[in-house]
Amino acid sequence: MMDIQVMKVGVVSCSGEEIPEGTLCRLACRKVLDERPGETVTICLPLFIAGGEEERTFAANYPTITVDGCDKLCAAKATEMLSGKPSKSLSIPEILKKRGLAPPTKLRHFGTEEEAAVKAVAEEIARAVDEVLEED
Ligand code: SF4
Repeated sequence: MMDIQVMKVGVVSCSGEEIPEGTLCRLACRKVLDERPGETVTICLPLFIAGGEEERTFAANYPTITVDGCDKLCAAKATEMLSGKPSKSLSIPEILKKRGLAPPTKLRHFGTEEEAAVKAVAEEIARAVDEVLEED
């Protein structure tokens, strides 16, 4: 009998609440998780850091993609320290620069103006998911 393993990727968003890029990060990750339910799971960063066994076990056994709102790279550093090096580490400022988009200015209550940035970041995360799945 053929053994078909369904590979999933853990998406770890930083939990930035203090800067608009943190909000953008969470919304874009949410969009990818909603659009790719069979291939992605979310890993709650605060729970992960607090010692959530399920989160740490998953991240230790499956590939992870971290997405951070600024160059402090909280999600990437925590993932590497607690469960192993992420397969890919994405940064919101780098994605915005690459896509020629201005950083959002609102801390929350994103509207249509910010939608382009959310969509662009979600596309980059989805591309990273595809690359990770192709590697496995
Ligand atoms: S990476 Fe930056 S925005 Fe995200 S939680 Fe850390 S300090 Fe906040």
